[in-house]
Amino acid sequence: MKYKYVIIRSARKSVAISISVDNQITVRAPWSMHTEQIAEFVDSKERWIEKVVRGNSLKFSRNGDIIDYKSILVDGKPLPLFIGDKNGIFSDCVHLKSLRDVEKTYEAHFYGRLSDEVKTLAEKTKTTPASVSVKSYKGRWGCCDAKNNLIFNFLLFMLPRELQTYVIVHELCHTICHNHSHAFWKLVGECLPDYKALRDRMSLYDFLTTLY
Ligand SMILES: [Zn+2]
Repeated sequence: MKYKYVIIRSARKSVAISISVDNQITVRAPWSMHTEQIAEFVDSKERWIEKVVRGNSLKFSRNGDIIDYKSILVDGKPLPLFIGDKNGIFSDCVHLKSLRDVEKTYEAHFYGRLSDEVKTLAEKTKTTPASVSVKSYKGRWGCCDAKNNLIFNFLLFMLPRELQTYVIVHELCHTICHNHSHAFWKLVGECLPDYKALRDRMSLYDFLTTLY
């Protein structure tokens, strides 16, 4: 198998494979399944994997278009960007009056979903953030202040959903542990067993912080 993949074992009954928009391959398998069996399963899916990976690479090679402001990421997918007379995020394109409106447009479109997601993940992580807000940051995706207010970079909504979840869980866990100690990562891992792979993928999106 020429592709690298991450295996996540759990109490599930069947094996399943998924490929993210940035070509991270994840295999979810039952506890009892041997690594060799998983490898065989992945091999049997090689043609399908190749097709999906190639399609994603094509789409992702549009990073050039993102840097040229011809397209813009929404939940990890590049969509055509039109600068014109309205602001809005649609299923197949994004309209902005000017690039200066990118933050308020993303915030207006996604704030409701973000606050719902924070609520759900706060229950899952048994945390209680004081508030949730969105702002523009250079060089960070989110922040948890000393009073447990969570502040997220509006660029978060450009990331694939699973990376958004990672950032939210990361900041929620900071409400319990305000550092990056072993205890902190243990908390993150309890909610997201594959957090290391997610964390590693974050750097793919660092270029966004220089664009807007
Ligand atoms: Zn942190």
